[in-house]
Amino acid sequence: MIYSLGTVPGKADIKMKFETMLVHTEKKQDLVIKSKVTPIYQSSAFTFDDLDEVEGFYEGNGSYLYSRVGNPNTDELGLAVAKLEGAPAGVTASSGLAAILAGVLAVVKAGDHIVAAEDLYGGSFHLIKEELADFGIEVSVVSFADLQKIEEAIKDNTKLLYTESITNPMLRVENIEAIIEIAKKHQLVTLVDNTFASPYHCQPYTKGVDLVVHSATKYIGGHSHITAGVVVGKEELIAKAAAKITNLGTILSPFEAWLTCIGLKTLALRMREQSANARKLAHALRENHLVKKVYYPFENGEEGFGAIVTIEVDDTIDVFEFFRQLSWVKFAPTLAGVETTVSHPLKTSHRALPPEAQEELGITMGLVRISVGIEAAEDIIEVFTNALEKSKK
Ligand SMILES: *Cc1c(COP(=O)(O)O)cnc(C)c1O
Repeated sequence: MIYSLGTVPGKADIKMKFETMLVHTEKKQDLVIKSKVTPIYQSSAFTFDDLDEVEGFYEGNGSYLYSRVGNPNTDELGLAVAKLEGAPAGVTASSGLAAILAGVLAVVKAGDHIVAAEDLYGGSFHLIKEELADFGIEVSVVSFADLQKIEEAIKDNTKLLYTESITNPMLRVENIEAIIEIAKKHQLVTLVDNTFASPYHCQPYTKGVDLVVHSATKYIGGHSHITAGVVVGKEELIAKAAAKITNLGTILSPFEAWLTCIGLKTLALRMREQSANARKLAHALRENHLVKKVYYPFENGEEGFGAIVTIEVDDTIDVFEFFRQLSWVKFAPTLAGVETTVSHPLKTSHRALPPEAQEELGITMGLVRISVGIEAAEDIIEVFTNALEKSKK
């Protein structure tokens, strides 16, 4: 028998702190063979002894039919992230973008209108600007830093407000309470991408956001070893999102879900270490005269806020040389792994934007995004300090 999270007799009421929940997520496994880790259910379909059992599946007894419809490994991941976000339900998808698409389509259809933040992650921006138009869905992209602009963009057919809890690469912290207030006033659904903060730092659902999405490719997985997405929220909306994922075929594979669940167990340890390192690096680079600007939110906060630091190097730095001098810190167009990596928004994620938009968002040649890892803080600081010194024009 396969059981669902929170439904084990006598276990449903146990209260756990975040760190405890991470490693004691209830397993989706066969109770006869008590493996310590959930096995990989690498099976496209599941068998039934008779038609009564088939009937049982459709009545919702928690058994499984076909992996595009549901699989124990993907369910375990979806429900684990939901729990960490404080939400009742969650579903996985083949990527962060597939999770965003499912979340969006759970709310809007042809003829509806979305108001989205202008500084969304590049891939998300292309999804909503280019693909949703072909579905007959209208999108307005405005600055969410200016609440008035959001209000002005709302129309009769607006259904959804879509933003990120911490934006990329400028690390603007969204005013989630204000966004929820606007949504309530106009009866709109809110969708927040919580990838950069991870549920360790921020749980938008608990503040009243309807749908929270993650590119699990980043901190949820944590080891740059998978591409996956999760969307969590109320049961009714997640059931709709899950139906989209099943019908569009954008499911996550059992193996990748399994790898992600293993990675997730250390989220608190990784985030604590990476954020502490990020805070130290941000502080050191603020003191460095070869750095023009350091973007790191709430630097004086007790926990710090996230593990990404974005810097703008001084005009006296040869940026190409700076990247060459970074020694063991590699260039990688992703973030959130345990190794410190750097990326260059102008040449990668924001490459396709028109020059005016790049300028408005502050995406300059000297802008470097640093995804801080779990190495010794002193070593990380030294690599960046050295590279700056060695790349003066
Ligand atoms: C990476 C990322 C995505 C897209 O996720 P994929 O897993 O690459 O599809 C969406 N939002 C944010 C904030 C991201 O960093």
